[in-house]
Amino acid sequence: MAKKKQVEVDLNSDWGYSPAPESKGHIKIKPQYDQFIGGKFVKPSNGKYFDTINPANNEKLSSIALGSAKDVDKAVRAARKAYSEVWSKLSGKERGKYIFRIARLIQERAREFSVIESLDGGKTIRESRDVDVPLAANHFFYYAGWADKLEYAFPNKKPTSLGVAGQIIPWNFPLLMAAWKIAPALAAGNTVVLKPAETTSLTALKLAELIKDSGLPDGVVNIVTGFGDTGAAIVNHPDVNKVAFTGSTGVGKIIQRAIAGTNKKCTLELGGKAANIIFEDAPINQAVEGIVNGIYFNQGHVCCAGSRLFVQESVYEEVIRKLKHRMNTLIVGDPMDKNTDIGAINSKEQLDTINKYIKIGQQEGAEFYQPACKLPKKGNWCPPTLFTNVSQSSRITQEEIFGPVLAVQTFRTVDEVIAKANNTPYGLSAGIWTDKGSKIFNMTTKMRAGVVWANTYNKFDPTSPFGGYKESGFGREGGLQGLSAYLNLN
Ligand code: ADP
Repeated sequence: MAKKKQVEVDLNSDWGYSPAPESKGHIKIKPQYDQFIGGKFVKPSNGKYFDTINPANNEKLSSIALGSAKDVDKAVRAARKAYSEVWSKLSGKERGKYIFRIARLIQERAREFSVIESLDGGKTIRESRDVDVPLAANHFFYYAGWADKLEYAFPNKKPTSLGVAGQIIPWNFPLLMAAWKIAPALAAGNTVVLKPAETTSLTALKLAELIKDSGLPDGVVNIVTGFGDTGAAIVNHPDVNKVAFTGSTGVGKIIQRAIAGTNKKCTLELGGKAANIIFEDAPINQAVEGIVNGIYFNQGHVCCAGSRLFVQESVYEEVIRKLKHRMNTLIVGDPMDKNTDIGAINSKEQLDTINKYIKIGQQEGAEFYQPACKLPKKGNWCPPTLFTNVSQSSRITQEEIFGPVLAVQTFRTVDEVIAKANNTPYGLSAGIWTDKGSKIFNMTTKMRAGVVWANTYNKFDPTSPFGGYKESGFGREGGLQGLSAYLNLN
């Protein structure tokens, strides 16, 4: 049967969508936020605050308490007291009810959370509304269900809680990462001290308000805010039993060194440089959409972003032509607009890092492509960026950029692409696009990556474990593996 001709966008037409901004009238952001310790909002012991800004216009949104080691100590004490006196004595069934209630409250306040997430972090409202917030609620629902079934989850074991969990999260999925950390910890019977990233503290503090409303016993969840030294104070606190960290590989290594020789349990979810692999028998249009979803949506602010593209030689020209067409239709700009595909880069520092790598790519001799797009005058922006003709040793193929920058290579055989894709210090995720199930199974067993998506990309589910190989860290979040990370299994 003759192949249908695919419709392609006419790049010379000037059609566009009218703005469709999400309303902000329904949200309340206080001028100042304190830390949530022992069930109360507590002023920082040094009296200092720092600004959190909207990266889409660089305007200040609020002041956030600058937590110190003293505040961390207060929070760990509150968590220990809640653990020994209340939480460890409750039945799994009772713990599950609280976790379930938190899930329901997130759903009820979903609009508020998604608007604040986009304002504070710069990600598109479409992403926070359709991905971050529903997945955060789903994580609490999922782990609520396990709280009274731990012995069924781990047959022939006697699962017991660890104690106080210290949790440190990054800025790319602020509420979702808080949910990934808090939900399994509580289900397993631990109490928590969590620190959000310094540029995105607001939804974690909103979550603290919600947790207070849920009636969760005081001190079971504590939220401290601040920079790296506040995080280090959590890691180094002698009464923390478990450290869970998501962030850069550099900080992950510091944490591992800091806890060496202690009996703290640890899980690290670190950087990535995922390979997205397109075979000649792939559904090309869907694959192109998968490439865009993997690296351009969410500004490439995803540790599992498909930042290395491998295309089989026979379809290379078609893929690149279609990808460029698609890049020309992507809308970069106001994260609050429901039509926006690529929002604001989270911080000026991150934008500088991305621009540094774009320069490196050009200096290394790769072919560079960016569609012409109008960027807003204020704020941090980066158009979707494509590098072709890159080499394996190039820095833009080896190092994590954490921005909407894609490096493309070609391949001829399955063995060649496996070798190239695995040639990275990271191993968090990968994507494979092909019509052949047998090829998928062959590839998934040979890719040194924690998650391998087939004919899709960036799909998450609370039942499915997520985590890395090699310098992408160890331990898994999600599923029963994510629960076991918060238990002693004897
Ligand atoms: P990114 O480069 O993505 O910002 P980081 O690893 O620097 O990632 O930050 C992730 C989280 O780790 C943030 O909450 C940050 O404040 C915290 N952090 C930074 N340095 C340290 C450290 N030395 N010890 C513990 N936490 C840290």
